[in-house]
Amino acid sequence: MKITSADFVMSNAKVAQCPAEPLPEYAFIGRSNVGKSSLINMLVQRKGLAKTSGRPGKTQHINHFKINQNWFLVDLPGYGYARVSKTAKKTFQKYITNYFLERTQLMCAFVLVDIRLEAQKIDLEFMRWMGTSEIPFCIIFTKADKIGPQVITRQVLDYEKKLLEDGWESMPQHFVTSSAAHQGREDLLAYIDDINKSFYAQKR
Ligand code: GDP
Repeated sequence: MKITSADFVMSNAKVAQCPAEPLPEYAFIGRSNVGKSSLINMLVQRKGLAKTSGRPGKTQHINHFKINQNWFLVDLPGYGYARVSKTAKKTFQKYITNYFLERTQLMCAFVLVDIRLEAQKIDLEFMRWMGTSEIPFCIIFTKADKIGPQVITRQVLDYEKKLLEDGWESMPQHFVTSSAAHQGREDLLAYIDDINKSFYAQKR
């Protein structure tokens, strides 16, 4: 998929205020500092589209971007940042869960995890919640340039093992990416493009 346009639409704290236009939608979420903003900017090739935050946890809104006039990319707040107070955590957890439960046009959520780290409790808990809530998601491993190919393979296998131990029957669809090395962009966009195509084919 070629990106011909990427426009910021709006920023909301409530799912009810999100754009009404029924376009297929894809959300990006992960722990603060996982590389979400960098990945979004790399995907749409706009440097400043998603704000890479010097202070993680700052962007606590649901941010909609319209891509190619036919799909929404949604930048969700980073979770699990220790410096956000417990009350703030609870509030945005609630609106994140509301977003997933109420946003029917969501085609897929991309859950970002740093490929260098072992599976984190908060990510596993979040994926479990997504599973039981029947929200389709994929895993995006970020920062793959930081380790060598053999370590990448090992880390992905370790992650799969953790998920199977956690009750999953198989590893969800996943992508290995690096914003710094522009890795994974084509595969990810092709995946989105395929879903968009079936979405629009069904509408005809
Ligand atoms: P966010 O908080 O999840 O939006 O994360 P950012 O995109 O702001 O990135 C957090 C930090 O990780 C920044 O210092 C980025 O430069 C760095 N980073 C993000 N993606 C990559 C990557 O693919 N490779 C490397 N080496 N660093 C990255």
